[in-house]
Parts: sequence; structure tokens; C-alpha cells
Amino acid sequence: MITLLSKVTIVATGGIGNVYLTTTNPEIATGDGVAMVYRAKGTIENMEFVQFHPTSLYDPERKPSFLITEALRGYGAVLKNLSGEKFMNRYDSRGSLAPRDIVARAIDNELKIWGDDHVWLDCRHLSKQGLIDHFPNVYEHCLERGIDITKDMIPVVPCAHYSCGGIKVDINGQSNIDRLYALGEASSTGLHGANRLASNSLIEAAVYAHRAAIHSGPRLGELTFEEQIPLWDYKGTTHLEEMVLITQSCKEVQMIMSNYVGIVRSDIRLERAMIRLDILYEETERLYKKSLISKKICELRNLINVGYIIIKMAQNRHESVGLHYSIDYPRRTSSEF
Ligand SMILES: Cc1cc2nc3c(=O)[nH]c(=O)nc-3n(C[C@H](O)[C@H](O)[C@H](O)COP(=O)(O)OP(=O)(O)OC[C@H]3O[C@@H](n4cnc5c(N)ncnc54)[C@H](O)[C@@H]3O)c2cc1C
Repeated sequence: MITLLSKVTIVATGGIGNVYLTTTNPEIATGDGVAMVYRAKGTIENMEFVQFHPTSLYDPERKPSFLITEALRGYGAVLKNLSGEKFMNRYDSRGSLAPRDIVARAIDNELKIWGDDHVWLDCRHLSKQGLIDHFPNVYEHCLERGIDITKDMIPVVPCAHYSCGGIKVDINGQSNIDRLYALGEASSTGLHGANRLASNSLIEAAVYAHRAAIHSGPRLGELTFEEQIPLWDYKGTTHLEEMVLITQSCKEVQMIMSNYVGIVRSDIRLERAMIRLDILYEETERLYKKSLISKKICELRNLINVGYIIIKMAQNRHESVGLHYSIDYPRRTSSEF
């Protein structure tokens, strides 16, 4: 949501998940707030820390991806590769109960080693009634897709889930631009550090919204809408005849980000991503200037902006910490988080 008032602007447009090919985020999560504030010269930080949920249901045809709760692994479900090996024991002594980022990286590695599209989550050894009672949503959703989790293994893959970074705000949710507040996932409060714990987004969504309301209240004065904004100048623009120019570019952004700026990064992958994204940036800016404004083209521009920021911040971090892992800098060197 973006509230444009004469006195105060509030940005709370949610996550950035659609920068990637697969995400648990709704389709509105195109990083609009982050991109707008970036263009307005607000400070954006920590965008390299993108959290990938380790276990979304593998189904390339469906968006957003259905999230298979981690509680299922807590309940005893076990990850296996397509050869049936409980591979997590090779990565962490806690096996399938290792933290989210370690499990996501391990799955990513297995997929790369074997060239597979997914791994399995196996619940078949668990009590049938227990599964149905404790995980009715997962049970029903999978059943609708032809997977009976009490009898079949569940195909799972990691996918983009949460952005720890965003518009840098202070303790009152205010950005470095006077009277511009950012709330929820679009903001970066610093509270998640480099790696968010599960189920912690409420702090940014509720606590900061409350604080921002208290802080901005006295500054609101009369709630009048700004009416002096000039109308959009359509001169020289035409209706875009071919939507494919936008939809294809969106897919390309998502491919670039998923292939080169995903769970495991390297200098060469990031450089490749930047070069390819730059071509899309130039093309899209040209298209934007000559086409009639539309939601789709705005979202495409925002996806490109956000992709650029993630790559740039990942390139600037010469260490592996939290959700940012680079094979070129596998160690943590700063004490920042
Ligand atoms: C499947 C899933 C499960 C999750 N489970 C948990 C959990 O168990 N615990 C937990 O703490 N967190 C969880 N999260 C994370 C949490 O849901 C989000 O971080 C949180 O909802 C973000 O809130 P928000 O208000 O910032 O954004 P949102 O709730 O996404 O709201 C953003 C709003 O802005 C609107 N909007 C977007 N763009 C524009 C625009 N350009 N102009 C105007 N309006 C716009 C959208 O339509 C939407 O209404 C989960 C997330 C997902 C996707």
C-alpha cells in the first residue's frame, strides 16, 4: 500500500519475491516500494539477504508456490534426494532439522550435483492420523494435486520467500527522506540482521506500523490529498501493441536472478547477471518512455531496479554471512551482524 498525502508518505508494498522465478509471495510482491524509494534517492540496505524457503511444493506450473511448513520436518519428515539418500546428514549434524538457510543451500547443492528438479520430503513413516490432524492444509492441498502425503513423498524445492533488507528506516519507521515512512517487508529495520528467523515478520508489520502511526500522527495535520500533482504527460507515447515485450522481459529478469543471484552466489555469476540485467534495463527504459503507462510496465521496471540493487549489494559484500553465501568469499569477515 502506498499512501500519498500532502504531509506524510507511507510505503508498505510487501516483498520482492517475484524478482525470482519461484516464490511463495503473491504476484503483487514486485518490490514497488523499494524501487520507488531507490529512484527517489532514499537509502536502501541489506538487499543481498534474500531468504529462500527450503521446502515449497515443486510445481513449475503454479504461482505462487505452495509452502510446505517447516513444522513438518520438526514433526519428523525427512529430506531425501531422488536416489533416496537422506542427504542432509552430509551437510549438518542436525540433518533435516538444520536451520532454514543451511537446508536451502544443501538442497540447492543436491539439485546442482545431480541435475534434478526437486528433492523429496518423506512423511510416509509418520502416523497417518497425526499428519492429517496436525497438517490439514498441507494434506488437503497436496491431495488436490494428486499427492497423498501419508503414502507419497512430496516433491519440494527452495524458493524466494522473504527480503530482510529494504528501505532503511529508523526506530519510528521513518526513512532518510523526511516524512517518508516504510513499513513491513518493504522496510529494513535491521531487526532480522542478515538472516530472519521464521515467523518474525510481525515485528516489522505490526510494531513498526504502530510506532510510525504515533510518530507521524502529529505531523499529519489536516489529511488533505495533494491535488497540485500535474497530470501524467502522455505526449509521444503509444499503446503497447505487444504485451510479450513486457512479459518476456519479466521472465528474463526472473531467470537471471534465479540462475545467477540465488541461494549460492559467486563473482562470475553476479557479473553475468549484471551484464544481462543491464540490457533489459536499457530496453525497458526505452519502452517505458514511449508506451502508455501500465501496471505491468511499472512492475517490470521495479523488478529490474530491485534485481540491480540485490546484485550490487551482493557484489559489494566480500564475505558469506546469513542469507548471503558466495563461493568466492566463503567466510564471514565482518562483525556487522
Ligand atoms: C506463504 C507465506 C507464508 C508466510 N508465513 C509467515 C509466518 O508464518 N510468520 C511470519 O511472521 N511471516 C510469514 N510470512 C511473511 C509475511 O507474511 C510477510 O512478510 C508480511 O505479510 C509482509 O507484510 P506487508 O504488510 O509488508 O506486505 P503485504 O502483506 O504483502 O501487503 C502489501 C500490500 O501492498 C499492496 N501493494 C503492492 N504493491 C503496490 C503498489 N505499487 N501500489 C499500491 N499498493 C501496492 C498489496 O496489494 C498488498 O495489499 C509469510 C509469507 C508468505 C508469502
